[in-house]
Amino acid sequence: MIIQRVVLSSRPGKNGVPVAENFQLEQSTIADTVQAGQVRVKTLYLSVDPYMRCRMNEDTGSDYLQPWRLSEVADGGGIGVVEESKHHSLGKGDFVTSFTWPWQTAAILDGDLLQKLVPQLVNGRLSYFLGAAGITGLTALLGIREKGHVAAGANQTMVVSGAAGACGSLAGQIGRLEGCSRVVGIAGTDEKCSVLVQEMGFDAAINYKKGDVAKQLRELCPGGVDVYFDNVGGDISDTVISQMNQNSHIILCGQISQYNKDVPYPPPLPPDTEKIQKERNITRERFLVLNYMDKQEASVLQLCQWIQEGKLKVRETVVEGLENIGAAFQSMMNGGNIGKQIVLVSK
Ligand code: NAP
Repeated sequence: MIIQRVVLSSRPGKNGVPVAENFQLEQSTIADTVQAGQVRVKTLYLSVDPYMRCRMNEDTGSDYLQPWRLSEVADGGGIGVVEESKHHSLGKGDFVTSFTWPWQTAAILDGDLLQKLVPQLVNGRLSYFLGAAGITGLTALLGIREKGHVAAGANQTMVVSGAAGACGSLAGQIGRLEGCSRVVGIAGTDEKCSVLVQEMGFDAAINYKKGDVAKQLRELCPGGVDVYFDNVGGDISDTVISQMNQNSHIILCGQISQYNKDVPYPPPLPPDTEKIQKERNITRERFLVLNYMDKQEASVLQLCQWIQEGKLKVRETVVEGLENIGAAFQSMMNGGNIGKQIVLVSK
């Protein structure tokens, strides 16, 4: 059977900026028959995520991520529908997902490695299983629960960087649902700031590309910052940390501003910022959602419940066509998305 697939055609280099041309669409084939235990799936949605930047390097710098190989098909979070099955518990028409879905229009996959999805849990919005009801939502929820020390009634102020992105837009809302009394976002455009406040219930948002971030933060967080959900690192994080309270907490979710640099993860703080962190006893422990997969089932149900109740507002930026996945990745790395960036491969 003839299919389309996307391969990594070149690496940007450890310090380079990834571009759409690092990926290439090509025609390929898959077997016409399905073996015992396998399913043939049609790909519906694929996810592009910042961690994929590390997979573009020859060495990802971490033991839990494998590099993509040149001229071989890329992979990541994906959702599809079963079209033919020789697996005992999957049948034609079932919707399934995997973290290692190949970037191709159809595939033959091992059924044991797929998770079956229940579309009703997300009001039929299947793609949410890659975002708000998937690894992104889990990252926001478990990051806050495991590292945020949020307590209802404690009058805490949370600041979120990368706030209009996939994790950030959920993290601010979840911070509020878990008990923070004030939530302030930092994002890169006025439109993003407006969505955060008007749609997602943030108390305020700062456009870090305009004006004095430190000054605005002081005005918007008069009692200082108690919880910082950090997606970006770099200068923004140094500014936030300088306004954090004694015994406050950083949720070290990601450091996207450093991903095109050859630095260790997490990147060390500059000496002045590190001094503040130590003197004020601010926690900054590494957080990796994959370490908490024992909590996945209950947490996904919690996220789905909030979505159904309208308590968690979800935004997606959808790009159509497998041929545009490289451009979608490039755009996402440059902040071109609001909420989760999804590629629609087939309807
Ligand atoms: P996302 O949707 O792309 O959002 C990230 C946002 O960061 C972008 O919207 C962008 O918007 C902003 N950004 C990009 N470059 C920036 C820069 N140089 N300075 C400041 N802001 C910048 O990505 P995501 O999926 O939400 O992921 C967010 C972070 O979480 C990433 O660092 C990712 O690696 C991390 N993550 C961690 C885990 C974990 O287990 N710890 C799991 C998933 C994701 P604006 O610049 O326009 O604001």
